[in-house]
Formats: sequence, structure tokens, C-alpha cells
Amino acid sequence: MELVNNKYVMSGGIDPLELCKTYGTPLYVYDASVIERQYKRLAGAFDYPKFKIHYACKALTNLNVMRLLRQLGAGADCVSVQEVQLSLMAGYKPDDIIYTPNFASVEEFGEAVKLGVRINIDAIPMLENWGLQHKDVPVCLRINPHLMAGGNEKISVGHIDSKFGISIHQLPHVLRVVENQGLRVEGLHMHTGSDILDVDIFLRGADILFEAARKFPDLQYIDLGSGFKVPYKPDDIETDVEELGEKLSARFAEFCKEYGRELELIVEPGKFLVSESGYLFARCSLVKQTTSTTFIGLDTGLNHLIRPMFYGSYHKIVNVTEPTFKPRIYTVVGNICETDTFGSDRRIAEAVEGDIIGFYNAGAYGWMMASNYNSRFRPAEVLIYKGKAHLIRKRETIEDLVRNQVAVEGL
Ligand SMILES: *Cc1c(COP(=O)(O)O)cnc(C)c1O
Repeated sequence: MELVNNKYVMSGGIDPLELCKTYGTPLYVYDASVIERQYKRLAGAFDYPKFKIHYACKALTNLNVMRLLRQLGAGADCVSVQEVQLSLMAGYKPDDIIYTPNFASVEEFGEAVKLGVRINIDAIPMLENWGLQHKDVPVCLRINPHLMAGGNEKISVGHIDSKFGISIHQLPHVLRVVENQGLRVEGLHMHTGSDILDVDIFLRGADILFEAARKFPDLQYIDLGSGFKVPYKPDDIETDVEELGEKLSARFAEFCKEYGRELELIVEPGKFLVSESGYLFARCSLVKQTTSTTFIGLDTGLNHLIRPMFYGSYHKIVNVTEPTFKPRIYTVVGNICETDTFGSDRRIAEAVEGDIIGFYNAGAYGWMMASNYNSRFRPAEVLIYKGKAHLIRKRETIEDLVRNQVAVEGL
């Protein structure tokens, strides 16, 4: 969304104010052309021929978005069996789906096996079970190389006391289990969490995996996870995917030569593909001056966009209705009965009741983390595709809030 002649416009010249009028607020809007741009940018950065992007669909599982990414050539990375089911509904082939759960039950693994997808195991006890039940089903192993990729401690998963993955230091134990049970290891995986700012640290993680790979003769692929950072502010550092692609392609080709076979190289970004495509629009319900600050209060809250309160993420916030008014300093808050702050001390064009306020970078982990807290409806979703706006999810209704409730007789 850009300012053109003092008005915000979205791709295809679409007016966000019109969308809010048509579909109401709060409203999530995604721009398919941005998703395509990001996919092609990443795909273009790697010249290794057997390179594949798996979309980490937990970022945004609307089937339309998943189909768009499949059409662009992506596979899917799923952290639950429900995401596997959604991926299949979106037309992904089982072989293009990797199931990468954390502390999933033996039963859930069993369901994923039935669906025929690639299986990623991230704990030794699960690996020990594997031989008893699914001896013939090959597995991928999630290795924790213990890198601090940087960024936020809530989303960083590669550190020493992380619950994710099998420690690289436990490799000898893993090898004993694999041999003992006669398992076939077809993939190695790492995902060090979010916010890779330093390409060389990522490459060091890759090297640790390549080193481990020598011990597994049946590998088909190596999956290096994600953590590709996108900018939230104009001067933000982002992952230099071009540098990463160039260095990693070269390094991977070298590794394959040593290994003796050309393996598939996989990465699995979520945020990188969809974050910048998304906006949340909400209506200012009230402007309230207190002794310390001026609040813009909205018709949405942490129930619809929890990232700022959950892990302190920054979302650029603008007044879409009156972009040219003189900026004032505001604290932007939601309507939930908790402290519910989207941004403090933000310079935003002077706002009044009824103005539409827009949040940037709301494509990833926005709607997906939305809840019905305070018994409000989750927002509608719109996708701008080929220059036209399409409603891709209706706003909820009161029926949705009670759909699965069961009345007790006498109450
Ligand atoms: C969440 C997740 C990703 C995607 O992370 P982003 O920061 O959104 O790119 C990739 N792989 C796994 C295993 C994940 O859990």
C-alpha cells in the first residue's frame, strides 16, 4: 500500500477505504502480487537446480493463499496434521509436504504417515518408537545445531535449552537408534527460528548439518528451515536472501560433490513469503486524551493481532482516511479488556473517530493467531488477486461463537 497523490492505494489501484466500506472492519487484506514477488525473489536467489521452497503455512493457511503458492511452485511445511490436511485440500502432493511437528503424539504421527507425507522427527524417543510402528517409512531428522540466530527470544528456537530438535551433540545416540532399528533417514533438517540477520551464521548452521550428513548414506534432501527476516521499518535490516542464495547454492553444490549425489535443497519460509502482503484495517472508535498521552482506540485488539503484545513486534501504523493531516504523537490501543497496545508514541496523521487505521506486515501470524477473546468475531479476509479484490473468508457471526457449544438440559 502506497501513498499516491496523498491517498493510500493498494495494488491494482484498489482503494482500501472502499474495501473497508464493502467488507467492514476490522479487515485483513492480502496482496497476491507481493506474495508472488517474494516467492520469485527467493527462488531467483538460488541457482542450485534442485532447490525447493516449502511454504511454512502456519503463517497463513487460507486455502487461496496456499493454492497461490502451490501454483508458483512451492511445497508445504506443516506443523500439525490439520495443516497437512489443509495442504492436501489446497492441492499439494503428499511428497511436497513435510510434516514437522513438535511434541505431536504418536497417534498424530500415525495419521500423517497414512496421508503419505514426508515425516520430520525431532526427538529421540519418537525415533525409538518409529521402528516398532513405521519401520518402512523413511524419516527426516530435525537437528538443533545450537545457533543463536538472533532476534526475539520467544521466536528463537535454536539455542541450547530450546525444546526443538535433536541436539547435534546427541548424534552418536541417534546413529545407534537408526542402526539398531534399521531406519531409513532420507532428510536432515534445521530451523533455527526467526530473524537471520547474519548470513554467515546461517551458513555455519548449514555446515554443521552437512558434517552430520556424512553419517547418513540414504539422504534425499536437506532442509535448512527459515528465519528469513523482512523489514518492518524503513531502515530495518532484513535477511540478504540474494547473498544467502549465492553463498548457499555454491556451498551446497560443493557438499553434494563430497557426498556423492545431488540432494534436494529445501528452505521453508513463512513470514518472508506473506508478511508484507498483508494489512489489517481497523476503525478508530475513539480518540482519548489522558494526562500522559493521547490514545487512538480501535475496533480491534490483541484478539485479532496479538504479535505486538505477544512478542513485541513492530507494525507500521497509518491513518488511511486522512494521510495528509499534521502528524501527532499517539498510543494506538485495542478494545480488549487487557492492556492491549499496538504501538506507543507513534507519529500518525491526526485521527478522529471513524478514521480507518492501517497496520503493515500483517500477513504472517496475524489472522492465524486471532481468537474470539472477549467473544468478538474474527475478521474477514480479502485477497487482491490480478488487480481485483476477492473476499476469501467471511467475518464470523454469533452462530460461529456458539456452533460447537452443547446445551445441558435444565440450563
Ligand atoms: C514457523 C516455522 C517456519 C517459518 O518461520 P518464519 O519465521 O515464518 O519464516 C519454518 N519452519 C518451521 C519448522 C517452523 O516451525
